[in-house]
Order: sequence, then structure tokens, then C-alpha cells
Amino acid sequence: MDIVVVGSCVQDLISYTPRFPNPGESVRGRDFHAGSGGKGANQAVAAAKLGAKVAMVGRVGNDIFGPENKNNMKQVGVNVDHVTVSETAKTATATITVSDSGENMIVVVLGANMEMSPASADEAESLIAQAKVLCCQLEIPEEASLRAMQIARKHHVKTIFNPAPGLPNLDKSMLQYADIVCPNENEAEMLTGIHLTSIDDAKQAALKLITYGPSIAIVTLGGQGAVVVSKSDQEPVHVAAPSVKATDTTGAGDCFVGALAFLLVTQPHLDIKEQVRRAVSIASISVQRNGTQTSYPLSSEVDPSLL
Ligand code: ADP
Repeated sequence: MDIVVVGSCVQDLISYTPRFPNPGESVRGRDFHAGSGGKGANQAVAAAKLGAKVAMVGRVGNDIFGPENKNNMKQVGVNVDHVTVSETAKTATATITVSDSGENMIVVVLGANMEMSPASADEAESLIAQAKVLCCQLEIPEEASLRAMQIARKHHVKTIFNPAPGLPNLDKSMLQYADIVCPNENEAEMLTGIHLTSIDDAKQAALKLITYGPSIAIVTLGGQGAVVVSKSDQEPVHVAAPSVKATDTTGAGDCFVGALAFLLVTQPHLDIKEQVRRAVSIASISVQRNGTQTSYPLSSEVDPSLL
């Protein structure tokens, strides 16, 4: 396995509506979609759909959503041998509302994900040790993500840490185990205390993020693409996203991380800025389609010059 993701599996329950309801109000939605999601599983699926060999380390419940989540990952070739089944907690759910403007509102109940622990990472040590890239996020207990990153460091495996969702009291010392830290605007703001209103602010935030330990920081900026900086040159660069009509941006950041992991494995000699440029373009494909994992492109749907 080239890529190991230690993270969350979540059942997405998505309603599409002309506009968001106000508190106490009921609006009539136009469509509903149930699909597998979770930041961890999304990143695993995004990389696998592009053709990478990916294994998932996660946890689901013994309910209707658990097997569906595992099967969904399996169908795109993700190895799910390390996705365990809880008898005590339910499969996590995300109740998502997407408005016609393409914005979303999300309530996540983390269920079985929160039963993951440092022991879950320890059990996957031999899997992590032979990988080229580890991806971690924050939809499982942070000590589980931390242990996975420590194991990766011990075995010289490159780690992409996507500190999402943003946690107000995250222990920043955890970032020293990340090779690449990759937050979105809100998460970057929470980590750095810098209020992001411009690309220049994002560059300042990226520069601050590399002082926490990672050798590379990438701040994704939605329709504005991303900013990337390396410790080696300290020169932040803005990578613009292609101009597209966004219909559903849910999970775009996960598509970006999965695509970046894929490129780190398949194009290891490319400059990080070029890897980011390609990942930004690949993620921009996903925002033009509805759904989360279903919106991620297969390698056959991506311009070969981006792979
Ligand atoms: P998150 O989903 O974590 O909030 P972002 O919104 O920053 O992440 O999006 C991640 C990436 O997805 C961006 O860097 C970009 O490549 C792509 N993307 C997101 N929104 C758009 C958009 N409106 N147009 C084009 N690309 C987009």
C-alpha cells in the first residue's frame, strides 16, 4: 500500500435545497442523496480513484451504514482490512444541507470514529511502516492521529496532516510530526490566529505554520486555489484554481489532499508547487459535481497532463 489514511468514516445524508432554513423554519428541499463520507474515507477514495494503492484505518458501527461505508471504499479499490466494527458505537453520520449557491451546512455525529485510539494506530504500524504517504485529519481523537504520525516519522513515511475540522484547543506541538500541513482558510486562522481576508494573509499564515515544524504548509482557499510555502525557500506562492461553476463544494478539501497524496507517490520528483497546482485542478473537478466521494474524478476523467 502506497498511501495509508488513518481517519474517519462517516455516512453522509445530504439534502439539496434552494436556500438554508432559518431556525425553526422548514423549507422544502429538491433532492436527497445518501453516500459514504468522512474526511479520512474521502481522502482514501480520492487517491484510490486516481489509481493509487490505498489502505484505510478506521472504525464503523455494526449498523446499516457500517457495511455500506466499507463496501463503498472497497469498490474503488481501497483496502479496508483495518476498518474495524464497533459493537458499542454507531457509524458516524453527517447531516449536510447544500444550497443552490453551492454552500453547505453540516452537523457531524462522530460515533465509532471516537472509539479510535493510539492503540488503533499501533495495530496498523506494519501497514504504516511500508507506506510512502500517511494522511491524518482530526475527525478521530487527536491522540490517535498523533500516534499514527509518530509511527510514520519513526519509519520515514511522509505525513500530510489536514487539521480538519478546526479544533480551538489543538495542541500545536502535534504539527512537528507532519511533513506537510494542509488546512483550509478557517483551520489556518484557528492555528495561526491570523485573520485571513486576502491571499497575502494566507501567505503569512502559511509562513507561520512552517514555524510549528512541518517542512511544507499549504492553505487551501476554495475558488481561489491555494497558497504553498516550503521551509527551504520561505517564499509563499499562490496557485489559482481554474474558474469553474461550483455546484457542490462538499469534500473539496479532501479531494485536494487525496490528489496531493497520489501525486507525492506517483510524481515524487516534481516540485511541491507543481504538485499543488495539479491537485488544485483535480479538486476543482469535484466541485462541479454533486456528492462527496461520487464527485471525485477517476484518473480517466482527468487531463493526463495533471497526473
Ligand atoms: P475545504 O473543502 O476543506 O473547505 P477548500 O474549500 O479550500 O477546502 O477547497 C479545496 C480545493 O478545492 C481548492 O484548493 C480548489 O482546488 C478546489 N475548489 C474549492 N472550491 C472551488 C471553486 N469554487 N472553484 C474551483 N475550485 C474549487
